[in-house]
Amino acid sequence: MSFEKLGLIEPLLQAIKELGYKEPTLVQKRAIPLVQAKSDIFATAQTGTGKTAAFALPILQKLRNAREDESKGIRAVILSPTRELSIQIHQDILNYSKYMNIKSAVIVGGKDIEAQRASLRRGVDIVVGTPGRFMELMESGMSLADIVVFVVDEADRMLDMGFSKEIRKIHLKLPKRHQSLLFSATYSDKVRKLSKQILTKPAFIET
Ligand code: AMP
Repeated sequence: MSFEKLGLIEPLLQAIKELGYKEPTLVQKRAIPLVQAKSDIFATAQTGTGKTAAFALPILQKLRNAREDESKGIRAVILSPTRELSIQIHQDILNYSKYMNIKSAVIVGGKDIEAQRASLRRGVDIVVGTPGRFMELMESGMSLADIVVFVVDEADRMLDMGFSKEIRKIHLKLPKRHQSLLFSATYSDKVRKLSKQILTKPAFIET
């Protein structure tokens, strides 16, 4: 199956062609149609399987339409365990959205919080970040009222690092109607428990 057959739009097809991607990977073939069908997802996928594009491409497609109103609220949140991984995911999103009018920001600890607040005020569609800094911004007024997609990447690692409370607190602030995608390298009891707390009738993807 090709990226074209997955129904991706031209600006995304052009960007991934330039990156040299020829065929979707297994997790991409499975996840992209499910995200497009608005399903919640629980996917076990290791790093290196193409899991970032598996959620980033359909999210970009979902957000491609201009906003219906004048709001500048964030529309997608991607939580990841570390600064390095957040920066990597953000870079991938920049590459994939090269031909689209989508703004994204990375929000991680150890970087100037005022600069991050300023970029949020200017308006961003997608925020990638670590749970700690994300919570800090949320508690000082960052609105989640416009969120349509919530991604928890490397959930097992995040839980091992003790972020369970933060993830659930962030999840509680999301609007009722949203889609949640959970990716984890392993399928542990802790991850299963989190999935029950934040996912609604998820589709399971094992790779
Ligand atoms: P990830 O599992 O998201 O960390 O991706 C691993 C690497 O595979 C990254 O360098 C991606 O740019 C690359 N990649 C993702 N999808 C594809 C694809 N369909 N074809 C070739 N490379 C890919």
